[in-house]
Amino acid sequence: DLITLSMLETSKGVMLNMEYFKLKEFFDGILEEVEFLAKQKGISLENMVDDKVEVKSDRKLLYIVFKNLVDNAIKYNNLNGKVVIEYSKLPKDHVISVCDTGPGIPKSHLPFIFERFYRVERSRSRKSGGTGLGLSIVKLATEKLGGKVEVESEEGKGSCFKVQLPKG
Ligand code: ATP
Ligand code: MG
Repeated sequence: DLITLSMLETSKGVMLNMEYFKLKEFFDGILEEVEFLAKQKGISLENMVDDKVEVKSDRKLLYIVFKNLVDNAIKYNNLNGKVVIEYSKLPKDHVISVCDTGPGIPKSHLPFIFERFYRVERSRSRKSGGTGLGLSIVKLATEKLGGKVEVESEEGKGSCFKVQLPKG
């Protein structure tokens, strides 16, 4: 993770390799990888992206973004919870959200969660083995792609991480 982070921080570190691909298949791949983990907690995974949606992006970088978000959505979820991937579009952007039914993130922590090594609840995070780098990588990688990431969260209800990416 440290290597990924420092690679993203140096402007020459990442050469973008833009290609067209189907978003639904992309997420099917990620969800397949985490299926076993999700099953252990009884968590259901839903890919709501329409078959037709195609994006032009750097597949590897986008994988880093969404693998981290999906990992979090499972790790910080309740037993028998849900993870849902949704797609919507704006005139110039794709909007992709990863939503979970976990404990949510207290408002006072929201401004900091994209900072390096930041963890909301040390005990909660240590138990799940996190280092607090995932979301800082998500933010940098999204920005490299010309996009932005936002979070909406309600304590006790869950969180939605929204990634906005330019279509062009
Ligand atoms: P790493 O991703 O480096 O293994 P991590 O998951 O602890 O470790 P981040 O992904 O950067 O670190 O997340 C930072 C903190 O934000 C987490 O420790 C957790 O407290 C909180 N967090 C992240 N995603 C969620 C989520 N979906 N629901 C609730 N809390 C979350
Ligand atoms: Mg994480």
